[in-house]
Amino acid sequence: MRLLEVDNLTTYYKLKDGYVRACENISLHLERGEAIGLVGESASGKTTAALSLIKLLPDNAHVMAGSIKIEGRDIAGATEEELRHIRWKDIAIIFQGAMNALNPVRRVGDQIVEALRIHEKLSEKDAGRRTAELFEQVEIDSDRVREYPHEFSGGMRQRVMIAMAIACNPKIIIGDEPTTALDVMVQAQVLQLLETLRREREMGMILITHDLSVVGETCDRVAVMYAGQIVEDGPTEKVFEAPSHPYTRALITAFPNIEGERYLAASIPGDPPNLLSPPGGCRFHERCSEVSELCRNEAPEITDLSPGHRAMCHLLQRKVKVK
Ligand code: ATP
Ligand code: SF4
Ligand code: MG
Repeated sequence: MRLLEVDNLTTYYKLKDGYVRACENISLHLERGEAIGLVGESASGKTTAALSLIKLLPDNAHVMAGSIKIEGRDIAGATEEELRHIRWKDIAIIFQGAMNALNPVRRVGDQIVEALRIHEKLSEKDAGRRTAELFEQVEIDSDRVREYPHEFSGGMRQRVMIAMAIACNPKIIIGDEPTTALDVMVQAQVLQLLETLRREREMGMILITHDLSVVGETCDRVAVMYAGQIVEDGPTEKVFEAPSHPYTRALITAFPNIEGERYLAASIPGDPPNLLSPPGGCRFHERCSEVSELCRNEAPEITDLSPGHRAMCHLLQRKVKVK
């Protein structure tokens, strides 16, 4: 049974002039210990997809369709109380801005102790001991459990967030740009820490990042999002070596060196569409160098290219038909 199976997840935001179609027909899956990278330009819907998975969406968001199964159990009908438990025990998230997730007026240790008492049913003493262990695990001196969030540096807060996220041994961890705000050295340390924990605990991981080199180094598979849709997904090596969708190719070309030093990505010519009224046909057609009349009029379907590798482009459908 798969650790995570997401089918056709569709989330829109309601605004007074219509719906922002931020996340449409997202399907992805994850096995135990596997990491999948979720990439795509800003506003492509990565955070919306992640928040839809843990049902932590803002009030104006509407999940229009889709199912989310964790080890076969559909969490669609979970109550708010069940969801709180699920977010500690099954699928935890680390956000980019750790400050937002930590309560500024409570000692960081107490926040973890409380979660362990509620969700792991530990005694006060055991929860305290476990919190100290978690601090050591994320390489922070356990004496600091009594400090407040503002007493930590950015990198440390991010590590506290990781300690919090793994406190109840979740099966899946989502990192939504967990290191973007950090300097390069600390970034590498935090990523290494996540990687070690993933291997030790066989956690599944969804890593959202703009940094394709991080995906190349850490993720078994990659899903590329454009304008609210997954346009290509597959084994990382395959997708990076032989990208099949024109957008994936543009994204890779705009990223100077996947295997080497990290650089800021150059931009792809043109802008992503407004998701309040995305263009008909293929959503990428206004920026695609291989566009044809068909692309403007008809949305392409997902094409299976090889086991586990799929992409959504008319050119591929033609190729498959010709074969
Ligand atoms: P980034 O890389 O910048 O973090 P992203 O891929 O995570 O971007 P999302 O934050 O999921 O993108 O946003 C997807 C789309 O949904 C964007 O068009 C964004 O403007 C829109 N959006 C996000 N949150 C809301 C909201 N609360 N209300 C309305 N629209 C929203
Ligand atoms: Fe480009 Fe057409 Fe393929 Fe869309 S369907 S990516 S516009 S070739
Ligand atoms: Mg985001």
